[in-house]
Amino acid sequence: MATALLVVDMTNDFITGKLKNDRALKVISPLKKLVDEAHKSSTPVVYISDAHYPEDTELKLWGEHSMKGEWGGQVVDELTPTDKDYTLEKRNYSAFFETGLDTLLRELNVDNVVVTGVVTNICIQHTSADAFFRGYSITVPKETTEALSDEEYASGLNFLKTMYGAKIVSVDDQLFE
Ligand code: ZN
Repeated sequence: MATALLVVDMTNDFITGKLKNDRALKVISPLKKLVDEAHKSSTPVVYISDAHYPEDTELKLWGEHSMKGEWGGQVVDELTPTDKDYTLEKRNYSAFFETGLDTLLRELNVDNVVVTGVVTNICIQHTSADAFFRGYSITVPKETTEALSDEEYASGLNFLKTMYGAKIVSVDDQLFE
């Protein structure tokens, strides 16, 4: 089974910017460890981040955030993608929605996705739904995602497990071969 590491929406606006979330700060260090392990094991790392246009539907609900070409839409410094990584832009909650992610994963022969990033019950949930619909198995290291409250984090993880069969694991588990 080939695995890819997906890093969703770890952009400045979701951590310290327009939609800042202090809870998301604690995701950075365990996620960095996971990205390093993925690199060492030659596991593909795919960053999929909001790169919004002012007209995007989502902004009616959330206001402007993670805009294309702006600082707020850049991945946080600690997790800056390397030239070996893949970077895709999205304009809606799901990392699969019109981003080319599914095509890329199929070209890489991936059938298991490790889904990380923010927010657990929003973009991570929609990304996991689309992964499930497309037949991927899903793994979520619990330290590498966060929500806006304890309740949303816990119910978010539970939803991923119940609805999509996501394996909820720890970053200390062996995730890459
Ligand atoms: Zn957005």
